[in-house]
Amino acid sequence: MRYAVLDRGDSLSQGLAEKLHRLAADKGFTHDQDEPEIVISIGGDGTLLHAFHTFLHKLDHVSFIGVHTGHLGFYADWQANELEDLVDRMATAEPFLVRYPLAKIELDTSDGKTDYLALNEFTLKGVNATLVAQLNVNDELFEMFRGDGIVISTPTGSTAYNKSVGGAVLHPSIPSLQIAEIASINNRVYRTLGSSIVLPEHHHVDIISKKEQRLLLAIDHINIEREDIHAIRCSVSDLRVRFARYRPFPFWNRVREAFLGYDVR
Ligand code: NAD
Repeated sequence: MRYAVLDRGDSLSQGLAEKLHRLAADKGFTHDQDEPEIVISIGGDGTLLHAFHTFLHKLDHVSFIGVHTGHLGFYADWQANELEDLVDRMATAEPFLVRYPLAKIELDTSDGKTDYLALNEFTLKGVNATLVAQLNVNDELFEMFRGDGIVISTPTGSTAYNKSVGGAVLHPSIPSLQIAEIASINNRVYRTLGSSIVLPEHHHVDIISKKEQRLLLAIDHINIEREDIHAIRCSVSDLRVRFARYRPFPFWNRVREAFLGYDVR
């Protein structure tokens, strides 16, 4: 098996990465940072987001595994003291591959068009003032937004920023995008629904910039500032990210454990 490792860079994660290399060598795995079959991130969910963006162009060939050095994460669902168990299972069992939906973000700027993929979410905010934007759903005017920002999340991202702004938690088997508001201003000119909405596959939302404004775009952990955005189209990507599961850990158990504190294993 060819594997790659990305660690968070702190001494605990680096130490675990070294241990992983020793365990993997004992099992005859090949360390290959360029063409891996399995990418193991060691750190937290943020490290897994980094790993995803590092191997973005190889999503067809790689599956991800996340090891957490602190509390259990959403993507990072193996804990540091389970490393031996993980490597044993990798050597002896076929993984169950779960595929999660991704968000496609198409920026229309003065420089032309650029595409991005998000595993958690795409967030749009104004840099110096409130964001002013028109939202069209499937090419029809939906609402005029003025406020702090908009979060457009994938189902697996629904437990991240989306949840903090009052969005619903969605099961990742539902290919969809959730649009949630951050502090919208509502008056006679700007009127928004107030609740988040969920778009299914093959629907799209266009966010059209309604004034000259400097915008902060966040694609997962990656922040970009631009003032030449005309419009942004978001939809469910045709691509999926694959996670290698060597033991069952149902999504709702993860939600219960992370947010309600019940240890269900
Ligand atoms: P990070 O790695 O420190 O992540 C921030 C927190 O979000 C961590 O506790 C992490 O475990 C958790 N997290 C990440 N993805 C998650 C998921 N899918 N479900 C549940 N929890 C999740 O910080 P970073 O490297 O900057 O990560 C960027 C992420 O941080 C963004 O994708 C966004 O979701 C999140 N974020 C959250 C808020 C908020 O909740 N107010 C604000 C900004 C960013």
